[in-house]
This record gives sequence, structure tokens and C-alpha cells, in this order.
Amino acid sequence: MAKILFINPVVREEDVPRHIPYGIALLAAIAMKEGHLVQVYDANAHRLPLDTIIEVCQADDWDAICIGGLTTTYNYIKKACKLIKESAPNAQLIAGGGFLTSMPHEIFEWIPEIDVGCIGESFVTFPEVLKKIDNKDVNYSDVLGVIHRDLTGKSFLTNIRPNIKDLDTLPWPAWHLFPLDIYFANSSNLFSEESFTSKRRMDINGSFGCGLTCKYCWHLGTTGDMLVEENDNGENDVVFTYGRNIRYHSADYIVSMVKHLHNEYDIDFAAFIDENLMTMDVASKGTWLKELCKKWIEAGLQPTCRQQGIPHDENCKGVHWNGTSHAGLHRPETLKLMYEAGCTHLVYGLESFDPTVLRNLGKGSNARKNKQSIATCLASGIKPIPNIIIGFPEESFESVRNTIEALVELGITAKPHFATAYPGSEWYYAYKDSIMEQYNQDLEAYIMDLGDASKITATISHEFSPMQLLGLQQIVYLKDLRLLDLSEQHWAPVQEKLTPVIQPKMSFNLKTVKEAGPLAS
Ligand code: SF4
Repeated sequence: MAKILFINPVVREEDVPRHIPYGIALLAAIAMKEGHLVQVYDANAHRLPLDTIIEVCQADDWDAICIGGLTTTYNYIKKACKLIKESAPNAQLIAGGGFLTSMPHEIFEWIPEIDVGCIGESFVTFPEVLKKIDNKDVNYSDVLGVIHRDLTGKSFLTNIRPNIKDLDTLPWPAWHLFPLDIYFANSSNLFSEESFTSKRRMDINGSFGCGLTCKYCWHLGTTGDMLVEENDNGENDVVFTYGRNIRYHSADYIVSMVKHLHNEYDIDFAAFIDENLMTMDVASKGTWLKELCKKWIEAGLQPTCRQQGIPHDENCKGVHWNGTSHAGLHRPETLKLMYEAGCTHLVYGLESFDPTVLRNLGKGSNARKNKQSIATCLASGIKPIPNIIIGFPEESFESVRNTIEALVELGITAKPHFATAYPGSEWYYAYKDSIMEQYNQDLEAYIMDLGDASKITATISHEFSPMQLLGLQQIVYLKDLRLLDLSEQHWAPVQEKLTPVIQPKMSFNLKTVKEAGPLAS
């Protein structure tokens, strides 16, 4: 058996630690099931000085040290890998997660300390890598779904690892390895009264991926959206597609997991981190969420406030929950059941109210559905949490006006996020050249800049510069149509004479076809 250390990188330094890393906890459970000895250093929870890693790495004779996360953790991971290799040179350094899958060859070039990386879904790949390490065999060329190096340090990507077929074969995450009290202390959030008063919230995951194709979104192989193909240089590289292997846990799996969390850790709130609950429900022909709600109630998890039809207060027992929804796919009867079972709020990625922006986005919604969704959700008793974006490629004064007018009509105030091309998304590949231009051809500098999601990084708007987008963000937040009109009077005639700020291009790493990656039989 191998002795393994997982390091959970610091994410969103400007905020407190709120989320036990579901993926790491799941891989830790898989490794333990295979008989390996597992420890976790949760740097994100503890927020200790970076060089604490040295002590942790020298605390035992680790066979493997594992690190991973989304692109927003890149800064920390890069610095951590240097310290890990210096302080534990004999341990194999394994990386995984979105930051690596989206751009494996670049990451291997920028972080030379990584020995091997799991690409896409790691549930089968990771234990195979550990088995090799256990057998003192560090030639990974026969393991599917990895990136590894030859003796010169050159990176090689093996063929794709099929997605597992049945998610219910996965063990529950190893939550006990994490400092839960730190996370429980940060349970509260402002989205609903029940979530604000939560004292013991934990995240759960019911599904992988989403059937839709929003151009800013990425699934990184977890939803059958990834292939591995030879590029022009004859090297294997990742290719992202519109292909899908839709998979979700059974209602029984989810409910028994939440029941366990309630009994063992006394949780009062379960936050679904699924990409989109409603798209999974549609894939199940509208049966999944209904069954989940029914079984949630039968298992005694329904909060007493919902059971008795009384206001929520500190005496409420049971487990409230939240998730993500979709303006065009939610159904009033399902929302009603979700409310009864304890759902408090649903995040709606409305993004915009402009017909052109929405038509090009791939979200499968329109301005009318976006407007109606707020009232439909509110009517069920669940609070809708709308998400708004500005800076779309086709953003114009008219599209911003459409969004502000809808916000005024609906009585919503929202500070919009900036459209950002995260690696793995369609936007990233279409605008990569423009992004490089904006960062003086230094792609790594762009990746390092993505740590703070509220910041403006590379713009992908064809018309607006960063300066204009910063102003427009404030104008949308204030819903100030007078300022928008004034800005248009000043800028529109100038913009007519200028060439577009940004131009899209095709890329090897993106195939806009419904070709799915393999699914295990
Ligand atoms: S609906 Fe949400 S999860 Fe699905 S592709 Fe769009 S942004 Fe991604």
C-alpha cells in the first residue's frame, strides 16, 4: 500500500474557506478503499503560510503527494509544487483536476515538478497510478487518461480514459479527513434565510456535467465532452466537444448519503454543487428530482418548517438544501415538490436579457423565459438567485440596455460578472490568440490572473474595451439608463470607425460536434 498525502490548494484568498473539496475527498475515499494510507493537508481551510508545506511534506515518507483543483487555484499550485519537490524529492507528485485537464501540455511545461497528471475523470485512473507507484513502477505510458514525462521532461498524453458508467459505484467522499469545524464556522451565506442561519452546511454532488453547451462553460471530460487526438505535431492533445455522457446518482444514493451526513455530522444544510440540477432532471424525463424529493421526505430529512407550514426558525429540524436551475427547463410542479422537501434557493444563470446574446450563448433560454423564470420560481416559495454577465462577444449598448430594462422590470439588482474565457470553454479556444495579445503573448500570466473571479482579465467583447466594461458594470448595477444613453452618445460614433477589439478563431482543441468520449461498458 502507498502512503499518500493530498494537498488542498488555497482558493479565493479574498474569501473564507467555504467548501470541503468534493473531488479530493472522493479520490481520498477511493484510495483508502484500495488499501492505501491517506492523509490530507487542507491549505485552503487552515490558511497557514505557504512554507508550511515543507513541514507537511517532511512529516512522513510519502510515496505520493497529490494536488489539484480548478484553474483558479493555479497560482497556489505552482508555488506549492516547487516546495513539494524540494522537500519530498522521492515522492511522486501527482496532479489532477480542471487546471490540468484544460491545458495539460502547457501545465507540464510551466510546472516541471509534476511527475504525472490525471486527465478528465480520475476515478479509475488515479487508483491505477497509485498501484504503479506501490509497485515502484513509474512508467505511466500504459495507463489511460494520464499525462507523464520522458527522461528529458517532455510531456506525453496517453489515450482517453472512458467515463465510468454507474456513478453509484463510487464511495462517499472521505469528509472525516478534513477540518470540518473550520468549514462549519463558515456555513452561513446570504442567499436565503435558511442558508443564512445554517450552522452545519456541507456540499453534495448528485450528477456530473450538463447537456447544454454554454460557450463560457467547461466540463473537462466529466460529461463525455472530451476526446484525445493527435495534433498537427503528431502529439496527443485534449479536444473538447458537444458530446455528452449524461450521468447522475440515483435518488437512493443521494438520500442515504445526506441521511448519513445528518446522523454523523448533524448537518442542517446540503448544498448541491451539481453543474445544473434541471438539465439532469430533463435527461431523466422529469423523474429524477421528483423521486429525490419524495425519498428526501420519506427519509425524514424534510425540515420541520416545511412539514408543518410554519416560518423557519432556530428550532427547525431536518436538512434544507439548494442547487442550480435553468430558466427554460424548470417545471412549476417540480419546483413545488422541491420547496416542500426543503429547497431554499436556486441559482439561475440568466446571464443576459438580450435576444442576440442569448441566441449565441448555447444556453437554450431566451429573454421571455428568463423574465418568467423569476416569477415561476418565487411562486414555488424558492428564492431565485440570478446571475448576470456583461462583456459577451456580441455585447452592444442595445444588449446592455435590454438587460437593464429587464432588471428594472423584475425589480432585481445585480452586479454583473465579466464574461471570462476560462480554459476548457469554447470562448477560451475561440479567443486564445486575442487573449495572448492582451497578455503580451504570456498565456501563463493570464492563467495566473484568473484567481479572482470578480476581476476583469482578458476581454472577449468585440466592441468594448476593459475601461468601457468597468463603466458598464457599474451602470448595470445602478440600472442607470441615463448614464447608458450618455455613454452611447459619446462612444458609439467612435466605435463605428474602429476595427473590432477582439476576433474569434478556430482551434484544434475544440470540435463543435456531438461526438462523445467513451463510456465504460
Ligand atoms: S447550463 Fe450551466 S452547467 Fe450547463 S453548460 Fe450552461 S453554464 Fe454550463
